[in-house]
Amino acid sequence: MKAAYIKQNGAMEVVEIGDLPNPEPGPGQVQVALKAAALNHLDIWVRKGRPGMEPPFPHVLGSDGAGVVQALGDGVSNCTVGDEVIFDPGLSCGTCEWCLRGEQSECADFTLIGAGAPGTFAEQVVVPAKNIHPKPAHLSWEEAAALPLAHLTAWRMLFSRAQLRAGESVLIHGIGGGVALAAVQLASKAGARVIATSSCDVKLGKALELGADTSINYSTTPKVARQVLDTTGGRGVDVIIDTVGAGTWPINFEAARKGGRIVHCGITTGPTVECNLSLLYWKQLSILGSTMGSSEEFRCLLSLVNSTGLKPVIDSTYPLDEAQAAQGRMEAGKQFGKIVLTCAS
Ligand SMILES: [Zn+2]
Repeated sequence: MKAAYIKQNGAMEVVEIGDLPNPEPGPGQVQVALKAAALNHLDIWVRKGRPGMEPPFPHVLGSDGAGVVQALGDGVSNCTVGDEVIFDPGLSCGTCEWCLRGEQSECADFTLIGAGAPGTFAEQVVVPAKNIHPKPAHLSWEEAAALPLAHLTAWRMLFSRAQLRAGESVLIHGIGGGVALAAVQLASKAGARVIATSSCDVKLGKALELGADTSINYSTTPKVARQVLDTTGGRGVDVIIDTVGAGTWPINFEAARKGGRIVHCGITTGPTVECNLSLLYWKQLSILGSTMGSSEEFRCLLSLVNSTGLKPVIDSTYPLDEAQAAQGRMEAGKQFGKIVLTCAS
């Protein structure tokens, strides 16, 4: 099969296109002929190499995909050859304390398709049958591939970790990335008031079209937290969704209301911060980490997507042969929405 893979860690140039053996499904696994795959920042971390992300080479990149079931391993009964499917990219042991609680993304062995196992930038991928779900009928192949990782991550941040409720306000930083945009869509559908930040007026304009209520350009607004306070009548926001990291940490402490919940899932501006503990306890803030989501959260996400007709935002589509160029666009931060690869030849 054709695939985009790496034989070593490094810059964009290590991404190669070539033929690899077809992956065969083992017991409880399904082989999917991929129609489309979507990029995530995780692909860049995997390509560059980080502790805990050291798959054997050659390694096929990519966590998100959508396609048609092509072969079943022994014991698979929840799908059949020819089914149009998407899949939860999370991989967990299934037997530990956290898996048995239904918190698969807290499993000690938790990893993802494309990180700890061969990925989706290929014509075929093998995934556990329990991760397989019917493709939402209203989504194109590209939209279906763009859904899982970003929307599942945003779902867990908003509804499981921050316990967002209708009528609350939520500040979402760095509109343009997949998780931030997914959070705008999901928070808006949940009846929350959404305040979006970006350095780009065009991206902010699109965020308003997607359901954001207020936009703040942080490159032309010197005091973002002050602006958030003004927007909320001096009160501050209930929830903050942060995929940015160190750069927005000081803003969050000021912009959150007393008792506010701040959820982190990314470090694109760095992982290390200074924390004013007196502000933390005086304002009774909750600082929450979040990674991916559980099987149940994925099921709930799909239920909402099917019932509301929600569609992921697609930035651009590249053929699989141009996986390197697609990663270049993501690394430059130019995208608004998901960058997608078409996998079928
Ligand atoms: Zn486990």
